Amino acid sequence: MKKIRTRFAPSPTGYMHIGNLRTALYCYLIAKHADGDFILRIEDTDQKREVEGAVDIIYDVLKETGMNWDEGPDHPGDVGPYVQSERLPIYKEYAQKAIELGAAHYCFCDGEIGENEKDPCRNLTKEEVQAKLDAGEPYVIRQTTPTEGIADFDDEIYGHIEAPCDSLDDQVLLKSDGYPTYNFANVIDDHLMGINVVVRGNEYLSSTPKYNLLYDAFNWERPQYIHLPPVMKDEHQKLSKRNGDASFQDLKAEGYLPEAILNYIALLGWAPKDDQEIMSLDELIKAFTIDRISKAPAIFDKDKLTWMNGMYLRNMNLETFHNTVKHLYPETITRDVDLLEVSKCLQPRLDRVNKDDVAPMVDFINECLPFDAAIYKHKKMKTTPENSLEALKLALPAMEAWEDYTDDDGMMHMQMDLAKAHELKNGRVMWPIRVALSNKQSTPGGSVEIAHILGKEETLNRMRKAIADLENWVKENPAE
Ligand code: GLU
Repeated sequence: MKKIRTRFAPSPTGYMHIGNLRTALYCYLIAKHADGDFILRIEDTDQKREVEGAVDIIYDVLKETGMNWDEGPDHPGDVGPYVQSERLPIYKEYAQKAIELGAAHYCFCDGEIGENEKDPCRNLTKEEVQAKLDAGEPYVIRQTTPTEGIADFDDEIYGHIEAPCDSLDDQVLLKSDGYPTYNFANVIDDHLMGINVVVRGNEYLSSTPKYNLLYDAFNWERPQYIHLPPVMKDEHQKLSKRNGDASFQDLKAEGYLPEAILNYIALLGWAPKDDQEIMSLDELIKAFTIDRISKAPAIFDKDKLTWMNGMYLRNMNLETFHNTVKHLYPETITRDVDLLEVSKCLQPRLDRVNKDDVAPMVDFINECLPFDAAIYKHKKMKTTPENSLEALKLALPAMEAWEDYTDDDGMMHMQMDLAKAHELKNGRVMWPIRVALSNKQSTPGGSVEIAHILGKEETLNRMRKAIADLENWVKENPAE
């Protein structure tokens, strides 16, 4: 069997669109599942859309997501160059060949021809063409599409696709400036680069019959086609950068991990046999088969991505998690505390690594928030401001006597023993301490973890302050 060769062929636009990244991933997975080659080709023939540094962005995204390419502009194989603007003589040569084979012709019309129309220049005689060329008239080269019959092909996802030839337009192959159109370059390059499985967005589905006419004219073997349904924002709209939808770089800036993004987009239109969702790139390679790609458009669900990102964060070992979030601490935590302990508390709760998500979780570390008696009221814990005051008065001497604030287990048992000694449920003691240390309804970590982070002195200060605040409150709000 022939070695499978797929290619990812992005245009350097300056960002990595989610749909493009998914195409890259499927190309990569299809190649690697079969021990084949994954080729990177830069499609920069639309010079108007060129953006400085855009190729580096493509390299960076592929590297960050672990999709290593076997051949590309930076490490060419035998079929280079891998950048289309460096292949202009090749397109010219094949455009000439196509003319000789009767599959293309010169066109001197200055206007556009209508969609689905045949170009009148296809009827010029050889002599007329030569005279115009000699006179230096500008020209484009157009495909000469058949006037009758059916152009068809089989797509792995969409099945049999047919187009009546009289509906096919004589599309431009080579522009007057010598640049090829996508419509021409993709055929020439895919053939010369030995690409035998073409994976791309379904926007190319309707043009593919015309591409196959070119393959046939050159007597080249057609590739296998896998056209992918679009990634949608909702039922009606496609996800697109132009509509302000997030690119890979945007998602990363929002605190999503490259491996989580990749895992999530793998499932946008494909599903493994079992219901496994969290999958590494290696697991994806093993499991990825074409027959499980869906024809239905996939909807990009950010909440699901957020959930998955949280799963990736939780599956890290503490040190890796800490290294992933610690850059956010200098701007969110000003108190001198053990930041690894903070990470320990955040890891079970954080879904995205960004300042806006972290700051409200750690704000109480710098300073206790303003006193609010209502937070001491907790139905399930059966706490009230009044009985919290009593509990804190019991707990304060015990916390004063306790030496090692880094011994979480020991402190937890001490607090539980205290509750037991007074015939109280654990929450009756632990909830008031946790609130006293934060004045927040919820915090990452409970009374023990927060005391550990704050240290003995600050913990005791906050407990004393809470007792004073509660005493005032009780005085001002006598029970009826
Ligand atoms: N350069 C095209 C794009 O970015 C690639 C299409 C293809 O994969 O053939 O849409």
